[in-house]
Amino acid sequence: MDYSKLCSVYQALEGTSKGLEKTAILADFLAEIAKSGEYDLIYLLQGKAFADYDKNELGMSLQLVIRAISRATGLGDKEVVDEFRDIGDLGKVAESLVGKKKQQTALFSKKLTVEKVLQNVRKLPTLVGAGTVDRKIGYVVELLNSASPIEARYIVRTVLSDLKVGVGNGLLRDAIVEHCFDPQGDLDEKKEAKEAVQAAYDKATDFAEVFEKACKRKLDDIVLSPGKPVKVMLFPKAAGVEDAFRIVGKPAAFEYKYDGFRVMINKDDGGEIKIFTRRLDDVTRQFPDIVEFVKNNVNAKSFIIDCEAVGYDSKTKIYQAFQAISQRIRRKHHIERLVKELPIELVVFDIIFHDGNSLIGEEFGNRRELIEKIVRQEKFKITLADQIISEDAKEVETFYAKALEEGQEGLMAKSLSAPYKPGARIGHAVKLKPEDKDFDLVITGAEWGTGKRAGWLTSFDVSCLGKGGELLDMGKVSTGLKEKREEGLSFDEMTEMLKKLVLSEGGRKISVEPEIVVSVQYQNIQKSPTYSSGYALRFPRILRLRPDRGKGDIATLKEIESEAEK
Ligand code: AMP
Repeated sequence: MDYSKLCSVYQALEGTSKGLEKTAILADFLAEIAKSGEYDLIYLLQGKAFADYDKNELGMSLQLVIRAISRATGLGDKEVVDEFRDIGDLGKVAESLVGKKKQQTALFSKKLTVEKVLQNVRKLPTLVGAGTVDRKIGYVVELLNSASPIEARYIVRTVLSDLKVGVGNGLLRDAIVEHCFDPQGDLDEKKEAKEAVQAAYDKATDFAEVFEKACKRKLDDIVLSPGKPVKVMLFPKAAGVEDAFRIVGKPAAFEYKYDGFRVMINKDDGGEIKIFTRRLDDVTRQFPDIVEFVKNNVNAKSFIIDCEAVGYDSKTKIYQAFQAISQRIRRKHHIERLVKELPIELVVFDIIFHDGNSLIGEEFGNRRELIEKIVRQEKFKITLADQIISEDAKEVETFYAKALEEGQEGLMAKSLSAPYKPGARIGHAVKLKPEDKDFDLVITGAEWGTGKRAGWLTSFDVSCLGKGGELLDMGKVSTGLKEKREEGLSFDEMTEMLKKLVLSEGGRKISVEPEIVVSVQYQNIQKSPTYSSGYALRFPRILRLRPDRGKGDIATLKEIESEAEK
């Protein structure tokens, strides 16, 4: 397929902000993909080259792309940078400069195909060793050399992982429903189809697979397979014990809510163990201790278990808050030392796959019985979540108080009869936490400091998640970070991280890829027409980094609305 065809679709999508129009444009293009049978092309619609579960990074910084543009157009880096300063979007810079070059040289160029673009972009993360940078640039230059101006715009945005055409997962799901199921059908059927496609996506985390199976009416063929990450089930908040009973029913299971980080541990038929975070990052290498515990203490051929990794003090054996062990997720060196200094206990609370069978349709009560059977508990290595089954609010309150006293975050209340729903936040289980007024938000921009703080980014734009998966602005936060690294999360550490994610610059401001999630504490929430979420946090303060979370895990507008109403 000609790349120019896809670029017309991008342009049409960019030209409207209306969800229904975008869905119709997407559905039309999906028809083309279905006809060609090249389902992987759906990734390009998402501005990617791989499935969502695949965490391959293209590794193309602004600098590298600037060099690619300058090489392809024969201009100096400086000219490209100057143009970038004016326009603020490197895609449009490439479009303009490739356009000028074409006018001057009127070179014959080969037609660019979608397959060629996918092929070259897919090579980017595979390169290692000497000459990597040059070869990466080479693949982009090759594409730009045969690109029309408009194609250059989208090639550059794709390699920067910032397509800017506004296609979120919700829209893509709706377009699949529209193409594969009767769009004129009745509303209930449409709702059912939407749920089926969403559930399939949550299992597969791969729109190409979902689309192909939906076209063939075989969504049920999508199965879990250990080794391939799957989204975790999410938990809404309950207002209190009675509210929790109202949501999950009576009797219910109540468990400690441990203050660690979520890990899904997979063991495949060949015995290989893999550990994924809730943002589907593979962190196996960082946690050889967990691999050992699981190898020695979980008696099953294959499984996917849902767990919380909780830190404790190596000397006092007292459990520690997440913050104390968050470094273990990010640091890739001196792992043995970190294992000793920041030990972890693995708390298992669910299982969704066992010895070849998916258990997501199974009742939670039965899933818990199974983990009780196959996990050999060993304190400070691997345990099961502390649990009571109760229908008595008083008994639960006592258990809740005990959890808090022991330094845990609160309780989880779980319906005993509910299935597991990957990726969904539907209330089969809910969390009970004392009022703590903080939200996990993603950083989308920042501003350079002045005076003593020049050289550091000191103010950060934060966003929440809108109903269609889009990011919505919630204002700025500039307190909470430290001046020195020894004191905690510092300006200089944050600056280092954000500098790698810059998408555009203008004056003292930058916008960045939405990669870094922070917990932001606030005093209250106000309505605010200034920000696209419609809300602003008063007295916001960054509490901590959440390296285990991605932009899909941040607070939703719905949660913010319901807090604002309190
Ligand atoms: P929150 O991060 O506030 O949305 O709370 C949900 C998180 O609590 C989950 O994603 C887990 O990481 C964590 N958690 C701790 N203990 C449990 C438990 N017993 N069951 C389920 N999740 C738990």
